[in-house]
This record gives sequence, structure tokens and C-alpha cells, in this order.
Amino acid sequence: MKRSVLLGILLAAGAASMAAQTPAAPKVVDILKLKDNLYVLTSSTPGNPATFSGGNVAVFITDGGVTLVDDKLAGWGQAVLDKVKSVTDKPITTIINTHTHGDHTGNNGFFGASVEIVAHENTKTNMEKMDAFKGDNAKFLPKKTYADKLTIGSGKDRIDLYYFGAAHTNGDTWVVFPALRVLHTGDAFAWKDGPLCDRNNGGSCVSFPRTLQKVIAGIKNIDTIIPGHSPMQTPKDLQMYQTFTADLLSHATNEMKAGKSVDEATASFKVDKYPGYKNERVKGSIQAVYDELKK
Ligand SMILES: [Zn+2]
Repeated sequence: MKRSVLLGILLAAGAASMAAQTPAAPKVVDILKLKDNLYVLTSSTPGNPATFSGGNVAVFITDGGVTLVDDKLAGWGQAVLDKVKSVTDKPITTIINTHTHGDHTGNNGFFGASVEIVAHENTKTNMEKMDAFKGDNAKFLPKKTYADKLTIGSGKDRIDLYYFGAAHTNGDTWVVFPALRVLHTGDAFAWKDGPLCDRNNGGSCVSFPRTLQKVIAGIKNIDTIIPGHSPMQTPKDLQMYQTFTADLLSHATNEMKAGKSVDEATASFKVDKYPGYKNERVKGSIQAVYDELKK
């Protein structure tokens, strides 16, 4: 028997016996109270599959019911519902999907076709390409879409949805709760690191800083930001992220013009001047810039 085949069998056997011995951990998401009628379901940091439930979910409790912004990975719907029920008796009536990815749209089906699902029109198009929304599951696609801006509800229950152009995808919605001065960014501001620009879904690391500039100019009166996959942020943090993405774009553009490789451009990009920033995803962002500029 070839060594590699034997090794494969041994690894598979080991994985199977581990799976048999370790019962799946119960899925529990953490909840954070931001305001009297606004909570965040966290457990959103990627890495550990036992605790990573998908992106941060806003739970907005209005007179008419509960609106969720995003709904985490498939399989986490009951954990989401349990936490919502721990803070309100009201039914979930609306889900806003900030963008197409499965860690933000994974439970549209769990919550059912009676919930109104809202997203940017490009996100609906992107979702139509996903296996999770094919065939019978097409009924869990967004029914309400918009192009530039959409307002849902009024007064203290008002929610404003904005589209400012491509960034993480070509359908990133920025969700504002004006009465509470809170903004949910989805993954257009996911973490303090290089942005993920999903070019298969129209994302663009070249457009990213310009889109963030429009967000900062267009959305005022915010105190608190719910990012995609990290702890709560402030408008100052978003401003720094805009500077970071602009810096990354101009660095990558210059390095490419100078004939440097992606690895060289990554090595010479310094994140030290941005407090709290990592460089785990910088290479991916620089690669995206190179790929976009090559076209
Ligand atoms: Zn995403």
C-alpha cells in the first residue's frame, strides 16, 4: 500500500473516532445589550468552529415586532431564536441581509417564508447563485430590495438602509437605527485588518476606500458601530479603517507599478501605525488589488 494512501486511511479513522468520542458542543450565542430595544448576538469571531456562529446580528425590538440584521450560519437558527426570546416575547417579523455570505444569510430558511427579508438588489442576485437558495428554497430569498436607499418604519422604530457602492461585495447594505444613533456595517467593516474583497460577488478592494468615504460623508449622527465580526466600534474607528484601506490601495498600486510581487508588497506594508490592527488578511487584500488592476 502506498504510504500516502495508508496515511489517509489512518487520518480518516482518527477523525471518525474523535467525532464518536466528542459530542457536538451545544450551540450558544452570546448577547450584548446596546440600548433598551437593541441587542447584538455576538460569538462572531472566525477561527474556532465550535464557537463561531457567523456575523454579528442586531436584534431591534419595535412596536410591530423584531427586526434582525443578518441571521448567522446555517445550523445556528435555534441558538439565535433562543437568545431573542430571552429578551422579548415579540415575533421576528423582518430580516435584513447585509450581504450574500452564508454566515449572514444562513438561517433565512429557519425563520421561514412569513418573515419579510430585505436586501440590496445586487445581494438578491448574488444569493440566487447560492445552492442554499435554489429550487424550493428560493422562497427564502429577499422579497423587498432597493437600489440606493430604503426606509423601513418610522419614528423610534425607523431603520434606514443605504448602499454606497462596492466594497466587501457589490451589495453591501449599511443599516442605521437613527433614533439610537447606531450603525450596522456588515462585513464592509468586519475587523481591524485587511478587508476581504469578494470579487466573485462584485467586491472591490479598489473601490473600498471610496465607498467608505461616501459612508462617512453620508451617514451622520452615529455613536456606536456594530461591525461584521469584531467587538463594537465607533465612528472614529470607521474613519481609521477608511484611512487604512486607502493606504493599502495606494501602497499596493505603487508596488505593482514598481514591479514588486504580492509577497513583497505585503512585507513592506506596515500596520504598526494603526493601533489594534492585524496583518493576517493584508496579503489577500493586496492580491485583490493586483487582480483588479491587472484586468
Ligand atoms: Zn461576508
